[in-house]
Amino acid sequence: MLFQAIVATVRENVEAKKMEGRYVYQFCLSGDNGGDFFISIANNKCEVREGLAVTANLTVNVSDANFVSFLDGKLNPTTAVMTGKIKIKGDISLAMKLQSLLGQEMTAEGSAGPRVQKVGAHTYAVTNLYHTGLVEVNAGFVVTPSAVISIDAGMTVSDGAFLWQVSHQLVPDRRKSLLILTHHHSDHTFGMRIFREQGAEVIAHAHVREFLEEDQGRYKAFIIEHYMASQEEGDRILGEVVLSLPDRLIEEDTLLDLDGEEIHLLATPGHVSSELSVYCPGSKVLFAGDTIYEGMPPNTQFAGAAEKAEWVRQLRRLRKLEIKAIVPGHGKVCGKDEIDRNIALIESDK
Ligand SMILES: [Zn+2]
Repeated sequence: MLFQAIVATVRENVEAKKMEGRYVYQFCLSGDNGGDFFISIANNKCEVREGLAVTANLTVNVSDANFVSFLDGKLNPTTAVMTGKIKIKGDISLAMKLQSLLGQEMTAEGSAGPRVQKVGAHTYAVTNLYHTGLVEVNAGFVVTPSAVISIDAGMTVSDGAFLWQVSHQLVPDRRKSLLILTHHHSDHTFGMRIFREQGAEVIAHAHVREFLEEDQGRYKAFIIEHYMASQEEGDRILGEVVLSLPDRLIEEDTLLDLDGEEIHLLATPGHVSSELSVYCPGSKVLFAGDTIYEGMPPNTQFAGAAEKAEWVRQLRRLRKLEIKAIVPGHGKVCGKDEIDRNIALIESDK
């Protein structure tokens, strides 16, 4: 497809769309039929123009061929970003709107894939990551001028890679990457390999280390045996998973300071004893791990009466924080109401 035809197709797709907000997408297409064009959105109107915009909120670099595949619905944008076929720079929360803008809405069947959402100043939630069970898992990240602080790593190495890519393209000059594990469970840790290989420092509760020290690959084998349809499916989805021990251990509440951005690591045992919650007072966002579930009952199968009582005590403590958004381990980004709902359900769980 020639560049003019590509632009004409985009124009056809977007000009009738009503999009809220005011922002500019810049596209830089490489290849024989490449070129630059941008879509500006303002006053519920979308306009497509060739060339470079004066300023852009999100810049997309992609080859002409891959962009045409994307327009045809043949290239999954999430995978394309992960494998570097599409490179995006700028406000990534806008990237998620691109699919619907360009007419590439995913079908309702199957997973819609991860969703990246800005939940506060330089604070992002990633929801809807792959899970072997019925409920997707969440993660998130905070960026400072020189560091990326990731919270949880997803359940697969490919989701770990997605989390790495989407968070680190915001901070090209980063000097430091941290991965905080909210607890040791597979759906929060199995994607950690990529973070490890890229040199991130892994921080977790001391009980995560105790659990993993005895592991020797048994946990992965257990998950495949109990939660996957077959060994083959397990190998296909979890084959690349490699767990490693955390670098820094937390046993009590700990304050991290990165470029003046405070990150509070709060020991909140209950769901399991290795549970950490991550509170960012700057953005008033709480990454709760499995201390808080949204829209579903909290999973109490690992907790006895004493652990449940401790869990409730920790939830009451979290409720005292000033909170604008909670990123739960599972479910949608939510508000403080969910804390009360979780307390009521844990207390009535006998
Ligand atoms: Zn979980």
